[in-house]
Amino acid sequence: MKIIEDKENHFVCPDCHHHFVKPEDESAIICEKCGGNFIFRDGIYDLYPQVPFAEVNSVNFAELYQEFGKHPLTEDSEALRRDATVSMVDGGRILELGCNTGFMTECLAQKGQVYAADISMSYLKKVKNRVPGVTLVRLDAHKLPFEALFFDNVLMTDVLEHVLVPCRVLEEVHRVLKPEGKLILGVPNILNFSNILRHLISSKPNSLLKYTDAHISFYDPAGLFQLLAATGFFIKKYHPIYPFSTARNIIPPSIIRLLDNLFSRIARYFTREMLVIAQKSEKRYWQTLKSKILQRKVLLQDKHE
Ligand SMILES: [Zn+2]
Repeated sequence: MKIIEDKENHFVCPDCHHHFVKPEDESAIICEKCGGNFIFRDGIYDLYPQVPFAEVNSVNFAELYQEFGKHPLTEDSEALRRDATVSMVDGGRILELGCNTGFMTECLAQKGQVYAADISMSYLKKVKNRVPGVTLVRLDAHKLPFEALFFDNVLMTDVLEHVLVPCRVLEEVHRVLKPEGKLILGVPNILNFSNILRHLISSKPNSLLKYTDAHISFYDPAGLFQLLAATGFFIKKYHPIYPFSTARNIIPPSIIRLLDNLFSRIARYFTREMLVIAQKSEKRYWQTLKSKILQRKVLLQDKHE
């Protein structure tokens, strides 16, 4: 009876966006509209869609990332990025999409009301033990189980390069953000210094692929900015991280800082990680594009006449 309290009734069915009613059972969460059957167990809302958004070659991504979750990556080298990312978060209601082992969740929990979400139950169980007091949700980022205009901040670090349809995920983030809401997005830059070197050294066109573990789409600053504009965001801040990443292990920090300053303009473009604050915008990108194309058509017609 107490699963979805009135104050918590902002979850919606990921498949049909219908609000859940208070369930009769302690653990079952049932969508009255489409019959979707979800559960709340061991402190985790499992709102993974009944109808997957998309599958490629029948790969079950939920299962795949469940395995990933059992073998987490090391966190030691990521402190710089974590601190930069967390400092961009304002507070209020925060959705952390792709919470992994809870490395950032710990710091976010001090800033606001955190919803830590992941596709992998293995990760969520780790976060549960590590960070008390946050709402834990298993979900698919293509089909967010939250009502519209709910979050102040959405944070996504190292997620967008793993998802099948990035446009759709960003569209969903746009939907759940409040009108002035911010997306804090961290994505690796395919055009980083090390990759350029590898490209120059190797003669094979696919020489980069073996370095990209489970990444299925790639971004550079221009491509990322354009994708954000097309999905209804404008860039408030761009923060490159680890421009000279490969050198960091061997060169003292003071020299690294000097390099960062000396080559800041180039480093912005060839950095390893891109960190962006994107604000939700009502600007009608596609409408503007359409009118520009129509204008050009009229101009070309005038020329020919
Ligand atoms: Zn439903």
